[in-house]
Amino acid sequence: MPGDIVRATVPITFTYKNRVGHALEQYLNGFKEKKILGVKCPACKRVYVPPRTVCSTCHKPIDKMVEVGQTGVLKHFTIAHVNIINGEIIDAQQPYIIGLIKLTGASSLVSGIVQAPSQGTIKTGMKVKAVWKETTQGDYGDLAYFEPA
Ligand SMILES: [Zn+2]
Repeated sequence: MPGDIVRATVPITFTYKNRVGHALEQYLNGFKEKKILGVKCPACKRVYVPPRTVCSTCHKPIDKMVEVGQTGVLKHFTIAHVNIINGEIIDAQQPYIIGLIKLTGASSLVSGIVQAPSQGTIKTGMKVKAVWKETTQGDYGDLAYFEPA
């Protein structure tokens, strides 16, 4: 019919490997050593994790890396029921928790999976700690999840 738009699903996925930039390179290199790195603004002293190159508060360039704590406070969380894998939304085998955590020494929040023996025990304000994969390779997946500290 004239004017109708015909749409079709094309079953093609693409995998990209992008250069993450200097700040995130250092962040991910820190993961190899099971360290969490951020940057500290020389002007306002805010510490950003993950690192960024410009302060979002005072707009000064930032390049001083600092290590932050492996523990922090769970500030917010949500229960996820799906995974996004290669661009497709797939039902999760079981619900899981995605949290926003303020690590010790950081001014910003970092997101991560939060696991506990029972999801009902997870509360905002609780202290959590990073759990690393046994073997790390400088990838986001190295930091496996956070658990109650
Ligand atoms: Zn600043």
